[in-house]
Amino acid sequence: MKKRLFTPGPTPIPETVMLKMAEPIIHHRNPEFNEVTTRVNKNLKYLFQTEQPVITLTCSGTGGVESTFVSLFSPGDKVISCNGGKFGERWVKMPKVYGLNVVEIKIEWGKAPTEEQILSALKANPDAKAVYLTHSETSTGAATDVKALAKIIRENSNALVCVDGITAVGAHEMRFDEWGIDVCVTGSQKGLMIPPGLAFVALSKRAVAAIETSKMPRFYLDLKRALKSYQDNDTPWTPAVSLVIGVDAALQKIVDEGIENVWSRHKRLAGAIRAGVSSIGLKLFSEFPSFAVTPVWVPEGVEWKSFNKILKGKYGITIAGGQDDFTGKIFRISHLGYYDELDMIMMIGALELTLKESGYKFDLGAGVKGLLQALAAK
Ligand SMILES: *Cc1c(COP(=O)(O)O)cnc(C)c1O
Repeated sequence: MKKRLFTPGPTPIPETVMLKMAEPIIHHRNPEFNEVTTRVNKNLKYLFQTEQPVITLTCSGTGGVESTFVSLFSPGDKVISCNGGKFGERWVKMPKVYGLNVVEIKIEWGKAPTEEQILSALKANPDAKAVYLTHSETSTGAATDVKALAKIIRENSNALVCVDGITAVGAHEMRFDEWGIDVCVTGSQKGLMIPPGLAFVALSKRAVAAIETSKMPRFYLDLKRALKSYQDNDTPWTPAVSLVIGVDAALQKIVDEGIENVWSRHKRLAGAIRAGVSSIGLKLFSEFPSFAVTPVWVPEGVEWKSFNKILKGKYGITIAGGQDDFTGKIFRISHLGYYDELDMIMMIGALELTLKESGYKFDLGAGVKGLLQALAAK
């Protein structure tokens, strides 16, 4: 049976990228590898739509965000952090560990922070050094309007605009320079279509200046050191060489498709999946659904565990369940990264067969039909 992965990280890896990573390893301090990192650094700028440095770190996405907390601030500094799910929650807990003064904006799961919430937090905390936003909150599938909120933050404060773009980069429009973003982080196993193990951190001039004055203790995740090596397309420590070679090939695919086409493909596939599930009476969980992952309520009368067992055991499909209070109540279908329209037809087809077997009453085929109509209408 074919294995079919529909989770929002890890995501499927293109065959050409896997083959590249299977080649004999090369040494990271030789010119051959420097050619690779030079190209990767250039194409990462394209991915984030920036002229500023994008640092590659050997760690998962969480490490990428941690590098920003330890490299841009000093103990006691105040940061505003938006918490609307598992990841937002992490960006409240993590800075506290480093002695930062964290102002939490709590958001109901499935919703995104509003302009009013951001404005009132800024007003109450004029000394805030940064605002952390999660562009696509993977646990709830809710997307944040980063462009609009960045504008509000810029116009009303000196706070740095810091974005967890871990499932957004490559799926949602991201114009780092134009929108006035200061920090944006992504991870390798999401929109970049390679295995877990690398994080990427884009840094504005203001962020680089903050790094110069930060007094936080740090070593491995020190962005100041990383920036110094970056001047020579180098890294302070041994990077995950095979993954860097993989991301070089994956970035080339993004460059070939064109970043705007990559964004519009994600938007189209997300819309088609929403049409498919809605056509069989399933309800969407989030108010502003992300283009990376679609969260859906498990319909009444269907038991999530046995439903998931059929989907995986009979059709080889892995999707993501709900987390925390929503365990067993929602499931999440990913369409982030290496997917096309036909993958979506297969996904909805298998979902329908599994729902039928789970006793859910609906018109078999209506989901695929709804999806096809959405795709044909583009
Ligand atoms: C996956 C993810 C993370 C965490 O990344 P890891 O690579 O698991 O450390 C953080 N934020 C979001 C929005 C994610 O989807």
